[in-house]
Amino acid sequence: MNVFEVKPQGYCGGVRQAIQKAIDCRKAYPDQKITVLGNLVHNQYVKKALEQLDIQTVENSQRTRLELLDDIPEGIVIFTAHGVHPDVRTKARDKGLIVVDASCPFVVQTQAIVSQKLKEGYDVFYIGKYKHPEAESIYLLSDHVHLIQSEKDICDIKADKIFVTNQTTMSIYEIDSLFRAIHAKYPNAQIHDEICNATRVRQQAVRNLDPNQIDALIVVGDPSSNNTRKLAATAWESGIRTVIKVQNVQELNIDDLKGAQNVAVTSGASTPGYLTKQILRFLTDDSHQKEEICIDHIL
Ligand code: SF4
Repeated sequence: MNVFEVKPQGYCGGVRQAIQKAIDCRKAYPDQKITVLGNLVHNQYVKKALEQLDIQTVENSQRTRLELLDDIPEGIVIFTAHGVHPDVRTKARDKGLIVVDASCPFVVQTQAIVSQKLKEGYDVFYIGKYKHPEAESIYLLSDHVHLIQSEKDICDIKADKIFVTNQTTMSIYEIDSLFRAIHAKYPNAQIHDEICNATRVRQQAVRNLDPNQIDALIVVGDPSSNNTRKLAATAWESGIRTVIKVQNVQELNIDDLKGAQNVAVTSGASTPGYLTKQILRFLTDDSHQKEEICIDHIL
């Protein structure tokens, strides 16, 4: 079996920065209670590794970040890479919490652009995922932000000025078709693509694979990670016949690769490189031995 590592893949700058901020926070405040508001990045192994530093996470996908803040009575709160709604900042300050903000600068930038457009009197079509923390921090800004998850959400609105933008981790295919559908209905809408560079180049690298040369692509990442799901979606759209999504080497079934000569491996922007390397070693080792996952190697 020939095994190819797709490049680039794995941690992006925003994820690296968020993890480093959490590590630095523990060093700076060795005795304080530290809690992350939601998952720091969308990977359960990163969450477990943070617990080893006595950094806890409050998470409940049914509750907003504003509601979740009720579960942090004291100490330090870390805002995640996905950014937060301005009301969350105010509430944390009012509660007397020390705030460590690990929001990715690209997410902050999208929120700033949308806020500016709202001030200028635009209605905003925001392409994103309902209840995803990054999207939530934007579609809850105003009733004039309309969340678009699919074409059926492109509603009839009476607005003179319409601005269209998106969550940073969307699929380049999906976004193109939604931009076109919105443009067809609102030809004067201003369209502004906010897919971040890290997401774009990782998807582009998958798109550049020749489906006739690759028998299978393994996408390593957490099921809750939007950019990981979109990497897999990009592969399917590109015509790669077999796309296998796994979180770790333990989940990989060698029988799923029966007959595959050329296998490529990629991973989402929030996937620890250690987990991907274990998979690469498993595939390239003739005995196909699976290594145990050691949380000490995650951060
Ligand atoms: S995927 Fe993009 S927006 Fe998200 S943390 Fe990474 S660089 Fe930032």
